[in-house]
Amino acid sequence: MAGIFKTSRYLPRTFNILSKRNLTSSSNTLQRSRLFESNYEVQDSLADESVFTEDHVELRRNIRKFIDKEINPYVEEWEEQGSFPGHELFKKLGNAGYLGVNKPVEYGGMGLDFSYAMALHEEFGMIDCGGIPMAIGVQCDMCTPALTNFGSDELRKTFLAPSIAGDFIGCLGVSEVGAGSDVAAITTNAVKKGDDYVINGSKMWTTNGSQADWICLLANTGGDNPHMNKSLIIVPMNSPGVSTSTPFKKLGMRSSDTVQTFFDNVVVPQKYRIGDEGKGFFYQMNQFQDERLVAGVQVLSIVGRLIQETANYTYSRKAFGQPLLDNQVIHFRLAELETELEALRSLVYRAVGLYLKGHDVTKLASMAKLKGGRLARETADACLQYWGGMGYIDGLMSRTFRDVRLLSIGGGADEVMLGIICKYMDTLPRK
Ligand SMILES: Cc1cc2nc3c(=O)[nH]c(=O)nc-3n(C[C@H](O)[C@H](O)[C@H](O)COP(=O)(O)OP(=O)(O)OC[C@H]3O[C@@H](n4cnc5c(N)ncnc54)[C@H](O)[C@@H]3O)c2cc1C
Repeated sequence: MAGIFKTSRYLPRTFNILSKRNLTSSSNTLQRSRLFESNYEVQDSLADESVFTEDHVELRRNIRKFIDKEINPYVEEWEEQGSFPGHELFKKLGNAGYLGVNKPVEYGGMGLDFSYAMALHEEFGMIDCGGIPMAIGVQCDMCTPALTNFGSDELRKTFLAPSIAGDFIGCLGVSEVGAGSDVAAITTNAVKKGDDYVINGSKMWTTNGSQADWICLLANTGGDNPHMNKSLIIVPMNSPGVSTSTPFKKLGMRSSDTVQTFFDNVVVPQKYRIGDEGKGFFYQMNQFQDERLVAGVQVLSIVGRLIQETANYTYSRKAFGQPLLDNQVIHFRLAELETELEALRSLVYRAVGLYLKGHDVTKLASMAKLKGGRLARETADACLQYWGGMGYIDGLMSRTFRDVRLLSIGGGADEVMLGIICKYMDTLPRK
Protein backbone atom coordinates (compact mmCIF):
# COMPACT_ATOMS: atom_id res chain seq x y z
CA MET A 1 0.00 0.00 0.00
CA ALA A 2 2.69 2.43 1.06
CA GLY A 3 4.60 1.59 -2.08
CA ILE A 4 2.10 3.22 -4.36
CA PHE A 5 2.11 6.42 -2.43
CA LYS A 6 5.84 6.43 -2.55
CA THR A 7 5.75 5.82 -6.26
CA SER A 8 3.37 8.66 -6.89
CA ARG A 9 5.24 11.00 -4.58
CA TYR A 10 8.55 10.17 -6.25
CA LEU A 11 7.10 10.53 -9.69
CA PRO A 12 7.76 14.23 -10.04
CA ARG A 13 11.42 13.57 -9.24
CA THR A 14 11.58 10.64 -11.63
CA PHE A 15 9.95 12.82 -14.17
CA ASN A 16 12.47 15.54 -13.52
CA ILE A 17 15.29 13.15 -14.32
CA LEU A 18 13.53 12.10 -17.49
CA SER A 19 13.07 15.72 -18.45
CA LYS A 20 16.68 16.64 -17.82
CA ARG A 21 17.82 13.77 -19.99
CA ASN A 22 15.74 15.05 -22.86
CA LEU A 23 16.36 18.70 -22.20
CA THR A 24 19.07 19.17 -24.76
CA SER A 25 17.08 17.61 -27.55
CA SER A 26 13.71 19.19 -26.95
CA SER A 27 12.63 22.50 -25.46
CA ASN A 28 9.15 21.03 -25.54
CA THR A 29 10.18 18.70 -22.72
CA LEU A 30 11.18 21.68 -20.58
CA GLN A 31 7.71 23.15 -20.96
CA ARG A 32 6.20 19.85 -19.93
CA SER A 33 8.34 19.69 -16.85
CA ARG A 34 7.16 23.13 -15.81
CA LEU A 35 3.57 22.32 -16.53
CA PHE A 36 3.48 19.12 -14.52
CA GLU A 37 5.36 20.27 -11.50
CA SER A 38 3.98 23.75 -11.05
CA ASN A 39 0.92 22.82 -9.01
CA TYR A 40 2.79 20.80 -6.40
CA GLU A 41 3.73 23.90 -4.47
CA VAL A 42 1.48 26.58 -3.05
CA GLN A 43 1.97 29.30 -5.64
CA ASP A 44 2.38 33.04 -5.01
CA SER A 45 0.09 33.57 -7.99
CA LEU A 46 -2.78 32.24 -5.88
CA ALA A 47 -2.84 35.69 -4.35
CA ASP A 48 -4.09 36.97 -7.71
CA GLU A 49 -7.27 34.89 -7.35
CA SER A 50 -10.31 36.98 -6.60
CA VAL A 51 -10.75 35.89 -2.99
CA PHE A 52 -7.16 35.24 -1.99
CA THR A 53 -4.35 37.52 -0.75
CA GLU A 54 -0.73 37.02 0.29
CA ASP A 55 -2.02 36.16 3.76
CA HIS A 56 -4.12 33.30 2.39
CA VAL A 57 -1.08 31.99 0.52
CA GLU A 58 1.03 32.14 3.68
CA LEU A 59 -1.67 30.29 5.62
CA ARG A 60 -1.79 27.61 2.94
CA ARG A 61 1.99 27.19 2.98
CA ASN A 62 1.93 26.65 6.74
CA ILE A 63 -0.93 24.18 6.51
CA ARG A 64 0.91 22.26 3.80
CA LYS A 65 3.90 21.94 6.11
CA PHE A 66 1.59 20.73 8.90
CA ILE A 67 0.01 18.14 6.61
CA ASP A 68 3.40 16.88 5.44
CA LYS A 69 4.66 16.53 9.01
CA GLU A 70 1.65 15.61 11.14
CA ILE A 71 -0.86 13.93 8.83
CA ASN A 72 0.34 12.39 5.57
CA PRO A 73 3.07 10.20 7.10
CA TYR A 74 0.39 8.45 9.21
CA VAL A 75 -2.46 8.16 6.72
CA GLU A 76 -1.58 4.62 5.64
CA GLU A 77 -1.68 3.42 9.24
CA TRP A 78 -4.94 5.23 10.05
CA GLU A 79 -6.68 3.99 6.92
CA GLU A 80 -5.54 0.47 7.70
CA GLN A 81 -6.82 0.55 11.28
CA GLY A 82 -10.08 2.31 10.31
CA SER A 83 -9.62 5.20 12.75
CA PHE A 84 -7.29 8.04 13.60
CA PRO A 85 -6.15 9.40 16.99
CA GLY A 86 -8.72 12.19 17.07
CA HIS A 87 -7.82 13.95 20.30
CA GLU A 88 -4.09 13.84 19.57
CA LEU A 89 -4.44 15.22 16.03
CA PHE A 90 -7.10 17.78 16.93
CA LYS A 91 -4.94 19.09 19.77
CA LYS A 92 -2.11 19.68 17.30
CA LEU A 93 -4.52 21.33 14.86
CA GLY A 94 -5.94 23.42 17.72
CA ASN A 95 -2.49 24.49 18.88
CA ALA A 96 -1.73 25.64 15.34
CA GLY A 97 -5.01 27.60 15.26
CA TYR A 98 -6.44 25.61 12.35
CA LEU A 99 -9.70 24.63 14.07
CA GLY A 100 -10.80 28.22 14.49
CA VAL A 101 -9.56 30.17 11.49
CA ASN A 102 -12.88 31.99 11.01
CA LYS A 103 -14.11 31.68 14.60
CA PRO A 104 -14.28 34.66 17.01
CA VAL A 105 -11.07 35.63 18.78
CA GLU A 106 -12.85 35.74 22.16
CA TYR A 107 -13.35 31.95 21.95
CA GLY A 108 -9.80 31.28 20.79
CA GLY A 109 -10.33 31.60 17.04
CA MET A 110 -8.28 33.64 14.59
CA GLY A 111 -11.23 35.90 13.80
CA LEU A 112 -10.60 35.81 10.04
CA ASP A 113 -13.30 35.78 7.39
CA PHE A 114 -14.70 32.71 5.64
CA SER A 115 -12.30 32.98 2.70
CA TYR A 116 -9.48 31.91 5.05
CA ALA A 117 -11.47 28.83 6.05
CA MET A 118 -11.83 28.09 2.34
CA ALA A 119 -8.07 28.46 1.81
CA LEU A 120 -7.54 26.09 4.74
CA HIS A 121 -9.91 23.46 3.38
CA GLU A 122 -8.56 23.74 -0.15
CA GLU A 123 -5.19 22.86 1.36
CA PHE A 124 -6.66 20.01 3.43
CA GLY A 125 -7.65 18.53 0.08
CA MET A 126 -3.93 17.68 -0.23
CA ILE A 127 -4.21 15.12 2.59
CA ASP A 128 -3.60 11.62 1.23
CA CYS A 129 -7.13 10.44 2.03
CA GLY A 130 -10.65 11.85 2.35
CA GLY A 131 -11.38 10.59 5.87
CA ILE A 132 -9.20 13.05 7.78
CA PRO A 133 -10.34 16.19 5.88
CA MET A 134 -13.91 15.03 6.52
CA ALA A 135 -13.27 14.62 10.25
CA ILE A 136 -11.75 18.12 10.41
CA GLY A 137 -14.56 19.51 8.25
CA VAL A 138 -17.15 18.16 10.70
CA GLN A 139 -15.40 20.00 13.54
CA CYS A 140 -14.89 23.30 11.72
CA ASP A 141 -17.84 23.60 9.38
CA MET A 142 -20.55 21.07 10.19
CA CYS A 143 -21.13 21.04 13.93
CA THR A 144 -19.84 24.48 14.96
CA PRO A 145 -21.24 27.15 12.57
CA ALA A 146 -24.71 27.31 14.25
CA LEU A 147 -23.12 27.26 17.71
CA THR A 148 -20.84 30.12 16.66
CA ASN A 149 -23.60 32.19 15.08
CA PHE A 150 -26.56 31.54 17.38
CA GLY A 151 -25.27 29.90 20.59
CA SER A 152 -25.28 31.71 23.95
CA ASP A 153 -22.03 33.00 25.37
CA GLU A 154 -22.08 30.27 28.02
CA LEU A 155 -22.65 27.54 25.42
CA ARG A 156 -19.82 28.87 23.27
CA LYS A 157 -17.47 29.04 26.24
CA THR A 158 -18.38 25.49 27.27
CA PHE A 159 -18.28 23.77 23.87
CA LEU A 160 -16.94 26.04 21.13
CA ALA A 161 -13.79 27.32 22.87
CA PRO A 162 -12.46 23.83 23.79
CA SER A 163 -13.31 22.62 20.28
CA ILE A 164 -11.30 25.44 18.72
CA ALA A 165 -8.45 24.61 21.12
CA GLY A 166 -8.61 20.96 20.03
CA ASP A 167 -9.51 19.67 23.49
CA PHE A 168 -13.00 18.60 22.42
CA ILE A 169 -14.15 16.74 19.34
CA GLY A 170 -17.61 17.58 18.06
CA CYS A 171 -19.99 15.74 15.76
CA LEU A 172 -23.28 16.41 14.02
CA GLY A 173 -26.50 14.43 14.48
CA VAL A 174 -29.00 15.23 11.76
CA SER A 175 -29.52 12.07 9.66
CA GLU A 176 -31.54 9.16 10.99
CA VAL A 177 -32.24 5.65 9.77
CA GLY A 178 -35.56 6.83 8.32
CA ALA A 179 -34.58 10.42 7.48
CA GLY A 180 -31.49 11.31 5.46
CA SER A 181 -32.37 13.45 2.46
CA ASP A 182 -35.70 14.35 4.06
CA VAL A 183 -34.33 16.14 7.12
CA ALA A 184 -37.77 17.39 8.14
CA ALA A 185 -38.86 13.75 8.74
CA ILE A 186 -36.56 13.11 11.72
CA THR A 187 -38.22 11.52 14.75
CA THR A 188 -35.70 12.07 17.57
CA ASN A 189 -37.55 14.01 20.26
CA ALA A 190 -36.53 16.38 23.01
CA VAL A 191 -39.34 16.85 25.53
CA LYS A 192 -39.24 19.58 28.15
CA LYS A 193 -39.14 18.53 31.79
CA GLY A 194 -38.54 21.34 34.29
CA ASP A 195 -35.41 23.17 33.13
CA ASP A 196 -34.26 20.19 31.07
CA TYR A 197 -34.92 18.33 27.84
CA VAL A 198 -35.36 14.57 27.88
CA ILE A 199 -34.11 13.17 24.57
CA ASN A 200 -35.08 9.89 22.92
CA GLY A 201 -34.22 8.59 19.47
CA SER A 202 -31.18 7.82 17.38
CA LYS A 203 -28.93 9.29 14.71
CA MET A 204 -27.35 7.48 11.80
CA TRP A 205 -23.92 7.92 10.14
CA THR A 206 -22.42 10.13 12.88
CA THR A 207 -18.94 11.11 11.65
CA ASN A 208 -16.43 11.41 14.54
CA GLY A 209 -19.15 9.82 16.71
CA SER A 210 -17.00 7.22 18.46
CA GLN A 211 -14.49 9.84 19.61
CA ALA A 212 -16.68 12.90 20.06
CA ASP A 213 -17.13 14.82 23.30
CA TRP A 214 -20.36 16.48 22.20
CA ILE A 215 -22.95 16.29 19.45
CA CYS A 216 -24.87 19.08 17.78
CA LEU A 217 -28.22 17.33 17.69
CA LEU A 218 -31.29 18.17 15.62
CA ALA A 219 -34.41 17.08 17.52
CA ASN A 220 -38.14 17.71 17.47
CA THR A 221 -39.06 19.98 20.36
CA GLY A 222 -42.79 20.44 19.77
CA GLY A 223 -45.35 21.58 17.21
CA ASP A 224 -46.70 20.14 13.96
CA ASN A 225 -44.95 22.22 11.29
CA PRO A 226 -41.89 20.05 10.41
CA HIS A 227 -39.84 23.13 9.55
CA MET A 228 -40.64 24.96 12.77
CA ASN A 229 -40.78 22.19 15.37
CA LYS A 230 -37.07 21.45 15.60
CA SER A 231 -34.19 22.72 17.69
CA LEU A 232 -30.44 22.24 17.69
CA ILE A 233 -29.24 21.04 21.09
CA ILE A 234 -25.70 20.38 22.29
CA VAL A 235 -25.52 17.01 24.04
CA PRO A 236 -22.35 15.91 25.84
CA MET A 237 -21.54 12.42 24.57
CA ASN A 238 -20.77 11.20 28.09
CA SER A 239 -24.32 11.98 29.27
CA PRO A 240 -26.07 8.95 30.79
CA GLY A 241 -28.24 7.31 28.09
CA VAL A 242 -25.99 8.19 25.13
CA SER A 243 -24.40 5.22 23.39
CA THR A 244 -22.85 4.48 20.03
CA SER A 245 -22.58 1.46 17.75
CA THR A 246 -19.24 0.06 16.71
CA PRO A 247 -17.94 2.04 13.70
CA PHE A 248 -19.36 0.95 10.34
CA LYS A 249 -17.12 -0.65 7.73
CA LYS A 250 -17.34 1.61 4.70
CA LEU A 251 -16.55 1.73 0.98
CA GLY A 252 -14.21 4.68 1.57
CA MET A 253 -13.29 7.39 4.12
CA ARG A 254 -11.90 4.50 6.11
CA SER A 255 -9.78 6.44 8.60
CA SER A 256 -12.88 8.40 9.65
CA ASP A 257 -15.18 6.75 12.18
CA THR A 258 -18.91 6.62 11.38
CA VAL A 259 -21.35 5.29 13.99
CA GLN A 260 -25.00 5.15 14.93
CA THR A 261 -25.77 7.17 18.05
CA PHE A 262 -28.56 6.31 20.48
CA PHE A 263 -30.36 8.54 22.99
CA ASP A 264 -32.27 6.79 25.75
CA ASN A 265 -33.92 9.27 28.15
CA VAL A 266 -30.92 11.57 27.93
CA VAL A 267 -31.30 14.64 30.14
CA VAL A 268 -29.65 17.94 29.17
CA PRO A 269 -30.41 21.45 30.43
CA GLN A 270 -32.54 23.57 28.11
CA LYS A 271 -29.77 26.15 28.14
CA TYR A 272 -27.82 23.72 25.92
CA ARG A 273 -30.20 24.59 23.08
CA ILE A 274 -28.63 26.70 20.33
CA GLY A 275 -30.61 29.90 19.80
CA ASP A 276 -34.40 29.91 19.70
CA GLU A 277 -36.62 26.90 20.12
CA GLY A 278 -38.26 25.86 16.83
CA LYS A 279 -35.54 27.42 14.66
CA GLY A 280 -33.34 24.32 14.48
CA PHE A 281 -34.30 23.42 10.91
CA PHE A 282 -33.46 26.94 9.75
CA TYR A 283 -30.15 26.96 11.68
CA GLN A 284 -29.24 23.56 10.22
CA MET A 285 -30.01 24.61 6.63
CA ASN A 286 -27.81 27.63 7.26
CA GLN A 287 -25.06 25.41 8.67
CA PHE A 288 -25.23 23.23 5.54
CA GLN A 289 -24.05 26.20 3.41
CA ASP A 290 -20.59 26.19 4.98
CA GLU A 291 -20.36 22.42 4.65
CA ARG A 292 -21.31 22.51 0.96
CA LEU A 293 -18.85 25.26 0.09
CA VAL A 294 -16.12 23.36 1.94
CA ALA A 295 -16.98 20.22 -0.05
CA GLY A 296 -16.68 22.22 -3.28
CA VAL A 297 -13.36 23.82 -2.41
CA GLN A 298 -11.72 20.55 -1.31
CA VAL A 299 -12.58 19.02 -4.66
CA LEU A 300 -10.35 21.64 -6.31
CA SER A 301 -7.25 20.13 -4.69
CA ILE A 302 -8.39 16.55 -5.04
CA VAL A 303 -9.13 16.86 -8.76
CA GLY A 304 -6.05 18.99 -9.46
CA ARG A 305 -3.86 16.42 -7.81
CA LEU A 306 -5.46 13.48 -9.62
CA ILE A 307 -4.90 15.16 -12.98
CA GLN A 308 -1.33 16.06 -12.16
CA GLU A 309 -0.39 12.66 -10.76
CA THR A 310 -1.94 11.06 -13.82
CA ALA A 311 -0.06 13.32 -16.22
CA ASN A 312 3.16 12.37 -14.44
CA TYR A 313 2.40 8.68 -14.32
CA THR A 314 1.26 8.38 -17.93
CA TYR A 315 4.31 10.34 -19.05
CA SER A 316 6.66 7.94 -17.28
CA ARG A 317 4.75 4.80 -18.31
CA LYS A 318 5.47 3.62 -21.82
CA ALA A 319 3.33 1.35 -23.99
CA PHE A 320 3.63 0.65 -27.69
CA GLY A 321 6.90 2.56 -27.78
CA GLN A 322 5.71 5.87 -26.40
CA PRO A 323 4.52 7.45 -23.16
CA LEU A 324 0.86 6.72 -22.49
CA LEU A 325 0.34 10.44 -22.20
CA ASP A 326 1.26 10.93 -25.85
CA ASN A 327 -2.00 9.27 -26.85
CA GLN A 328 -4.30 12.13 -27.72
CA VAL A 329 -7.23 10.45 -26.03
CA ILE A 330 -5.36 10.75 -22.72
CA HIS A 331 -3.89 14.25 -22.90
CA PHE A 332 -7.14 15.60 -24.34
CA ARG A 333 -9.15 13.92 -21.57
CA LEU A 334 -6.89 15.46 -18.93
CA ALA A 335 -7.29 18.84 -20.63
CA GLU A 336 -11.07 18.44 -20.51
CA LEU A 337 -10.97 17.60 -16.83
CA GLU A 338 -8.63 20.54 -16.16
CA THR A 339 -11.15 22.80 -17.92
CA GLU A 340 -13.96 21.44 -15.76
CA LEU A 341 -11.77 22.04 -12.73
CA GLU A 342 -11.25 25.69 -13.62
CA ALA A 343 -15.00 26.11 -14.18
CA LEU A 344 -15.63 24.67 -10.70
CA ARG A 345 -12.95 26.95 -9.24
CA SER A 346 -14.65 30.00 -10.69
CA LEU A 347 -18.00 28.89 -9.29
CA VAL A 348 -16.61 28.20 -5.82
CA TYR A 349 -14.57 31.41 -5.56
CA ARG A 350 -17.49 33.46 -6.86
CA ALA A 351 -19.78 31.91 -4.25
CA VAL A 352 -17.25 32.72 -1.53
CA GLY A 353 -16.85 36.29 -2.76
CA LEU A 354 -20.62 36.85 -2.65
CA TYR A 355 -20.91 35.08 0.72
CA LEU A 356 -18.35 37.48 2.17
CA LYS A 357 -20.45 40.40 0.94
CA GLY A 358 -23.48 39.02 2.76
CA HIS A 359 -25.40 37.60 -0.21
CA ASP A 360 -27.55 34.49 -0.05
CA VAL A 361 -25.40 31.90 -1.84
CA THR A 362 -27.63 28.89 -1.27
CA LYS A 363 -28.02 28.32 -5.00
CA LEU A 364 -24.31 28.69 -5.78
CA ALA A 365 -23.25 26.59 -2.78
CA SER A 366 -25.63 23.83 -3.90
CA MET A 367 -24.20 24.05 -7.41
CA ALA A 368 -20.65 23.86 -6.05
CA LYS A 369 -21.51 20.78 -4.00
CA LEU A 370 -23.29 19.13 -6.95
CA LYS A 371 -20.61 19.92 -9.51
CA GLY A 372 -17.78 19.18 -7.08
CA GLY A 373 -19.10 15.71 -6.23
CA ARG A 374 -19.69 14.81 -9.84
CA LEU A 375 -16.36 16.16 -11.10
CA ALA A 376 -14.42 14.36 -8.36
CA ARG A 377 -16.10 11.07 -9.26
CA GLU A 378 -15.63 11.58 -12.99
CA THR A 379 -11.96 12.50 -12.58
CA ALA A 380 -11.21 9.64 -10.18
CA ASP A 381 -12.78 7.19 -12.63
CA ALA A 382 -10.98 8.58 -15.69
CA CYS A 383 -7.58 8.84 -13.99
CA LEU A 384 -7.78 5.37 -12.43
CA GLN A 385 -8.37 4.02 -15.94
CA TYR A 386 -5.12 5.57 -17.20
CA TRP A 387 -3.18 4.08 -14.30
CA GLY A 388 -4.34 0.64 -15.43
CA GLY A 389 -3.55 -2.15 -12.96
CA MET A 390 -1.56 0.27 -10.79
CA GLY A 391 -4.75 2.28 -10.33
CA TYR A 392 -6.74 -0.72 -9.19
CA ILE A 393 -4.42 -1.88 -6.41
CA ASP A 394 -4.36 0.03 -3.10
CA GLY A 395 -2.96 3.53 -3.49
CA LEU A 396 -3.87 7.14 -4.18
CA MET A 397 -6.03 6.38 -7.22
CA SER A 398 -8.10 3.57 -5.74
CA ARG A 399 -8.47 5.31 -2.39
CA THR A 400 -9.58 8.57 -3.97
CA PHE A 401 -11.96 6.64 -6.23
CA ARG A 402 -13.57 5.10 -3.12
CA ASP A 403 -13.50 8.22 -0.96
CA VAL A 404 -15.02 10.71 -3.39
CA ARG A 405 -18.07 8.53 -4.01
CA LEU A 406 -19.46 9.97 -0.79
CA LEU A 407 -19.41 13.51 -2.16
CA SER A 408 -22.58 12.93 -4.19
CA ILE A 409 -24.40 11.41 -1.18
CA GLY A 410 -23.29 12.93 2.14
CA GLY A 411 -24.26 16.44 3.21
CA GLY A 412 -27.18 16.38 0.75
CA ALA A 413 -27.32 14.02 -2.22
CA ASP A 414 -27.00 15.33 -5.78
CA GLU A 415 -30.77 15.13 -6.21
CA VAL A 416 -31.31 17.23 -3.09
CA MET A 417 -28.91 19.84 -4.53
CA LEU A 418 -30.84 19.78 -7.80
CA GLY A 419 -34.08 20.29 -5.87
CA ILE A 420 -32.64 23.39 -4.13
CA ILE A 421 -31.34 24.79 -7.43
CA CYS A 422 -34.78 24.20 -9.01
CA LYS A 423 -36.41 26.01 -6.10
CA TYR A 424 -34.24 29.05 -6.85
CA MET A 425 -35.02 28.70 -10.57
CA ASP A 426 -38.71 28.42 -9.68
CA THR A 427 -39.03 25.34 -11.88
CA LEU A 428 -40.33 22.88 -9.30
CA PRO A 429 -43.83 21.51 -10.01
CA ARG A 430 -46.45 23.47 -8.08
CA LYS A 431 -48.54 21.19 -5.87
C1 LIG B 1 -19.67 8.26 5.50
C2 LIG B 1 -20.87 9.08 5.85
C3 LIG B 1 -20.75 10.07 6.79
C4 LIG B 1 -21.87 10.83 7.16
N1 LIG B 1 -21.75 11.75 8.18
C5 LIG B 1 -22.88 12.32 8.66
C6 LIG B 1 -22.82 13.12 9.85
O1 LIG B 1 -21.76 13.34 10.45
N2 LIG B 1 -23.98 13.63 10.34
C7 LIG B 1 -25.18 13.43 9.73
O2 LIG B 1 -26.19 13.94 10.20
N3 LIG B 1 -25.26 12.69 8.60
C8 LIG B 1 -24.15 12.11 8.07
N4 LIG B 1 -24.23 11.33 6.94
C9 LIG B 1 -25.54 11.11 6.32
C10 LIG B 1 -25.67 11.73 4.95
O3 LIG B 1 -25.78 13.11 5.05
C11 LIG B 1 -26.89 11.05 4.28
O4 LIG B 1 -26.46 9.75 3.92
C12 LIG B 1 -27.39 11.80 3.10
O5 LIG B 1 -28.02 13.00 3.50
C13 LIG B 1 -28.40 10.98 2.27
O6 LIG B 1 -29.39 10.44 3.09
P1 LIG B 1 -29.75 8.88 2.98
O7 LIG B 1 -28.48 8.12 3.02
O8 LIG B 1 -30.78 8.56 3.99
O9 LIG B 1 -30.34 8.70 1.53
P2 LIG B 1 -31.91 8.66 1.16
O10 LIG B 1 -32.57 9.86 1.70
O11 LIG B 1 -32.44 7.33 1.51
O12 LIG B 1 -31.79 8.80 -0.42
C14 LIG B 1 -31.21 7.74 -1.19
C15 LIG B 1 -30.95 8.28 -2.58
O13 LIG B 1 -32.19 8.64 -3.18
C16 LIG B 1 -32.01 9.74 -4.02
N5 LIG B 1 -32.93 10.82 -3.63
C17 LIG B 1 -33.12 11.36 -2.43
N6 LIG B 1 -34.03 12.35 -2.47
C18 LIG B 1 -34.41 12.45 -3.75
C19 LIG B 1 -35.33 13.28 -4.47
N7 LIG B 1 -36.02 14.25 -3.83
N8 LIG B 1 -35.47 13.10 -5.79
C20 LIG B 1 -34.79 12.14 -6.43
N9 LIG B 1 -33.90 11.32 -5.83
C21 LIG B 1 -33.72 11.48 -4.51
C22 LIG B 1 -30.57 10.16 -3.91
O14 LIG B 1 -29.84 9.63 -4.99
C23 LIG B 1 -30.11 9.54 -2.63
O15 LIG B 1 -28.71 9.24 -2.62
C24 LIG B 1 -23.12 10.60 6.53
C25 LIG B 1 -23.21 9.61 5.56
C26 LIG B 1 -22.12 8.84 5.22
C27 LIG B 1 -22.30 7.76 4.22
